[in-house]
Amino acid sequence: MIKFNKVLENIKTYEAGKPIELVVREFGIAPEDVVKLASNENPIGTSPAVAQAIKANAAKAHLYPDDSMFELKAALSEKFDVQDKNIIIGAGSDQVLEFISRAVLDEDSSVLMSAVTFAMYEIYAKQMGAKVLRTASYEHKYDEFMEAFHMRKPKIVYICTPNNPTGDATSKEEVLDMIKAMHKDAIIVVDGAYMEYAAAKDTKYAITPKDLLGYENVIYLGTFSKAYGLGGMRVGYGIAQAELIEELSKMRPPFNISTLSLAAAIAACKEVGFVEESIALHQVQIKRYEEFANENGLKFIDSYTNFITYLFDETLDSTKISDALLQRGVIIRNLASYGMNAVRITIGTQKQNDIFFKHFKEVIA
Ligand SMILES: *Cc1c(COP(=O)(O)O)cnc(C)c1O
Repeated sequence: MIKFNKVLENIKTYEAGKPIELVVREFGIAPEDVVKLASNENPIGTSPAVAQAIKANAAKAHLYPDDSMFELKAALSEKFDVQDKNIIIGAGSDQVLEFISRAVLDEDSSVLMSAVTFAMYEIYAKQMGAKVLRTASYEHKYDEFMEAFHMRKPKIVYICTPNNPTGDATSKEEVLDMIKAMHKDAIIVVDGAYMEYAAAKDTKYAITPKDLLGYENVIYLGTFSKAYGLGGMRVGYGIAQAELIEELSKMRPPFNISTLSLAAAIAACKEVGFVEESIALHQVQIKRYEEFANENGLKFIDSYTNFITYLFDETLDSTKISDALLQRGVIIRNLASYGMNAVRITIGTQKQNDIFFKHFKEVIA
């Protein structure tokens, strides 16, 4: 019998948002009738310039990509006013999380995060045998973080702002206060996967990589998967001081991003118009979700992301509601596995949202 590493006993496989293909297979619904609002993807797709760049690079499929990622790093360093040596690229920012975890964690260490936050922080920590510490609140509360930090001395602190799967955000001022009050032995990860949406909503929440570059133990993470519409291409980045990036780079396998992904991300960096257009659509559509909740007596968390979290009271069950919607071809995210009687809905296009409201109204009636 194979003896797997003991740490695997405590790890639950990450439950990804259900794919459209599954709904087609299981419920016999035509793919064009399935509405997927479960994985925080960009509902309008990706920009034409990106699609063009992917096509143009198809002829290079037999060549390994440029492992220095020179062009992408140049585009990012221009965008964020940092230097190449401050940047590490991952297959999604997920992979950068993995590099960080593997670089500092072991069985005697711990990581600190809020009560409800991105599930991969826990999985990567447990892969290293590290302990997972959580504050009492899903929001990133200064006092709760400080108390746990000084008592338990975690090696990594996660500040997910805006936070997934809740949608709330932590202000730049609060994040900087926490960073300044924590000693420099811990890596502080500021995960800005949805930062484009928060920055557009209220500048108080806007954090740039440059804001954090003065701190040797802080790394900012960003991704092309959300606002940029490149979830399928798997590109993310970490930005920090050169010494930290150099250490993390030892964990990076060569050619971790494909030629097509590199080309797509480079094109996406250069085209700000698409992100602006996506956010403008989003800001109109999310209002409909807030109005719907208010009209139907539902609670929701004020969102700084491209999704909204509806909180149910005991008269509604998030699992039953998610399952009933799934059978109707509408995929949303049930938050029962996070210990919340709540659902997370990615804001779709006008048409997708129309379909969602129609079915959701019937299901909660
Ligand atoms: C989506 C997401 C990521 C990373 O996504 P990738 O597709 O791996 O870049 C990281 N953090 C949070 C909070 C996310 O929601």
